[in-house]
Amino acid sequence: EGRSIVFASGKGGTGKTTTVANLGVALAQFGKEVILLDADITMANLSLVLGMEDIPITLHDVLAGEADLKDAIYEGPAGVKVIPGGLSLEKIKKAKPEKLRQLIREIGQMADFVLIDAPAGLEMTSVTALLIGKELIIVTNPEISAITDSLKTKLIAEKLGTLPLGAILNRVTNEKTELTQEEIEAILEVPVLAMIPEDPEVKRASAYGVPLVIKNPTSPSAIAIKQLAAKLAGIK
Ligand code: ADP
Ligand code: MG
Repeated sequence: EGRSIVFASGKGGTGKTTTVANLGVALAQFGKEVILLDADITMANLSLVLGMEDIPITLHDVLAGEADLKDAIYEGPAGVKVIPGGLSLEKIKKAKPEKLRQLIREIGQMADFVLIDAPAGLEMTSVTALLIGKELIIVTNPEISAITDSLKTKLIAEKLGTLPLGAILNRVTNEKTELTQEEIEAILEVPVLAMIPEDPEVKRASAYGVPLVIKNPTSPSAIAIKQLAAKLAGIK
């Protein structure tokens, strides 16, 4: 059985989806079997970042009991497998998030890594995402409001029995007002696993639907992601 890691934050927009997409591609480039699961039930956009279109069957259909899991698994860039979320309001209403827990056991048998893109906040769907990962990586920005929200997420994950591995600091600018790595580690009580700089190429790559690690592999953000992928691929 592979590792299942949920990528979560308190605040929205910290970079979870971007990180899951790029880290997944980087792990696949290292020869790992990777499945990316879009567990952001109401705001699914992982497949868009990966440039995947024409997705007839999504996680929503599976959660609604209207499709088989195997029909909702698609091949993305670099051979990464993706279970996309659906976008229609009608499907969102039908999806039963509690079914996710059963599904994740099946999915966990299929890959070395299952990376779960969680919704922000601590609503029911977010808590479900925290529950289905065995390990947690916090994706946060180096500012106090994002960190304190992330701390709540971490504490809840721990209560649910999900092991916090560490935090990714995304959109780092090294301005004086930013919290330092040491300060953040002291607050969150987990190691910082990667620092990803603020990089306009990230947004550009998303707009093109080509993950940054493919579109611009030598950019500082892509390098930070690939270093983290190497670290994860080497940890047993
Ligand atoms: P979340 O999934 O946490 O809501 P996203 O991954 O969708 O966050 O990212 C939110 C926005 O921030 C997107 O427009 C994305 O392109 C942008 N973004 C993410 N990471 C970076 C970065 N390192 N530098 C610049 N923009 C970024
Ligand atoms: Mg997202």
